[in-house]
Amino acid sequence: MDFNDTPDEAAFRAEARAWLQANAKPRDATQSLAINQETGDFSADFPRARAWQVAKFEGGFGAIYFPRQHGGRGGSALEHMIFAQEEAAFDVPATNHFMIVNRGCCALLMKHGSRPLHHELIRPSLRGDLLWCQLFSEPGAGSDLAGVRTRAERDGDEWVFNGQKIWTSNAHLADWGVLLARSDATVPKHKGLSFFIVDMKSPGIRTRPIRQLTGGSNFNEVFLEDLRVPDACRIGDIGAGWKVVVSFLAGERGNIAVKELQPLIAALVRLARQVHIGGRPAIEDGGVRERLAGFHVREAGVRHTVQRMLTALARREEPGPEIAIGKLVLGTLVQEMTAFALDLMGGQGAVLDAAHAPLAGVWPNEWLGSVVDRLGGGSDEIMRNVIGERILGLPEDVRVDKQLPFNALGGGAR
Ligand SMILES: Cc1cc2nc3c(=O)[nH]c(=O)nc-3n(C[C@H](O)[C@H](O)[C@H](O)COP(=O)(O)OP(=O)(O)OC[C@H]3O[C@@H](n4cnc5c(N)ncnc54)[C@H](O)[C@@H]3O)c2cc1C
Repeated sequence: MDFNDTPDEAAFRAEARAWLQANAKPRDATQSLAINQETGDFSADFPRARAWQVAKFEGGFGAIYFPRQHGGRGGSALEHMIFAQEEAAFDVPATNHFMIVNRGCCALLMKHGSRPLHHELIRPSLRGDLLWCQLFSEPGAGSDLAGVRTRAERDGDEWVFNGQKIWTSNAHLADWGVLLARSDATVPKHKGLSFFIVDMKSPGIRTRPIRQLTGGSNFNEVFLEDLRVPDACRIGDIGAGWKVVVSFLAGERGNIAVKELQPLIAALVRLARQVHIGGRPAIEDGGVRERLAGFHVREAGVRHTVQRMLTALARREEPGPEIAIGKLVLGTLVQEMTAFALDLMGGQGAVLDAAHAPLAGVWPNEWLGSVVDRLGGGSDEIMRNVIGERILGLPEDVRVDKQLPFNALGGGAR
């Protein structure tokens, strides 16, 4: 595979760079690296991030691989990655923390949504006018997502939902949500799930913020109490929710793995030049240089793995389980790189307050937020299970409950 730009890609890169130069300022070393999506307070940052998404959309770069009929560019996933690489050099708000979910929901609506409402939602969601959240995890169902207990009961042309979701990013701001719920508890757990879209402003939805260790409250508990949703909001067949959610999560993991890490490595090299070990710049220490080189090698590995995935997407093939490799390596890499920055900074690395900390506290804040990619979208261990079972063909994880009816499992299942 040739990793250099083709002439068309080079032309796209030049166009993207020219547009960015005309519409944004270059990033300087002290500005937030904006690597981790849950580091700051999303509610406060959202208006600026949304305005940037709207500008990108209007400029033809906000929905690159979506068809023109929905306001997209009709481009490729590789062009999306090229734009992300170029954008990383500019001081612009991160938009991934809402656009990953928005893009996933739009792709889902294009694939499964057959009703006029579904199509009406795509353009404003790609533009950033509508914000989506994903109502999947529950207190007893995170890694074991097929264990969700939220009940979906049919009542004429409507469904009635009761249950609790947790860790729902942006639910307090969202206009729409995608929801996984149990429509049949008498069959094995993967077979009794259905998938819906829900208007988050409906009566019967209550959100309660969760305070994060970074100080922000970007995710929530969500309580569904006799929430009524028309059957027109069902996506896919009744009982086929597992298939829908698996393809949705593959897209999310792929998007997480597309994160641009080169600015983080460049910032780490700058830091190693600034701080001293034994009276000499840290960069002169062989051990420091070895760590930096190691980060660079792993970053290149993730980038090329992601390019394989994007090539598959460009050929209209389904991205494979290799996405799990990208997500797994990237998640640990960000955490290790930010921890290394704190080591280099010594005691100063522990100062969080932007007003007093070196570089406005960007490194300790990024480190605190770095746990996100090791959990959100599926934990490291679950990625290892995917790699072991679906890539390496190793024996399956023990799943004693796979064939039993869900309501025979105990623990309140019904
Ligand atoms: C920042 C952030 C944002 C999130 N946003 C959302 C969101 O918007 N919507 C949403 O629905 N969810 C969201 N989540 C939830 C996320 O998907 C779950 O946290 C994740 O799937 C893990 O589930 P859990 O927290 O229930 O942990 P558990 O599933 O209880 O796992 C606990 C530990 O056990 C390990 N473990 C579990 N099962 C196995 C196994 N079979 N083999 C080996 N190890 C195992 C896990 O790897 C983990 O280390 C978010 C999470 C984070 C951190």
